[in-house]
Amino acid sequence: MTKVKVKPKKVQLERIAICEDCTWFITTIRRCRQCGCKVEDRAKMTDRGCPLYKWPGDI
Ligand code: SF4
Repeated sequence: MTKVKVKPKKVQLERIAICEDCTWFITTIRRCRQCGCKVEDRAKMTDRGCPLYKWPGDI
């Protein structure tokens, strides 16, 4: 079985904290209004960033 790569927990928490301060974050359902993703799911992804390049390391 292929192991799915995810970002380290520390990075995930940094990303989520930025989302929680973002005007595009929907608090009630914890989704981003830009991409529609659940922020906890997107924060794990190694091949996806913030659609507005707000996360550290986004280019
Ligand atoms: S992914 Fe980016 S645009 Fe979306 S809520 Fe998080 S910081 Fe805001």
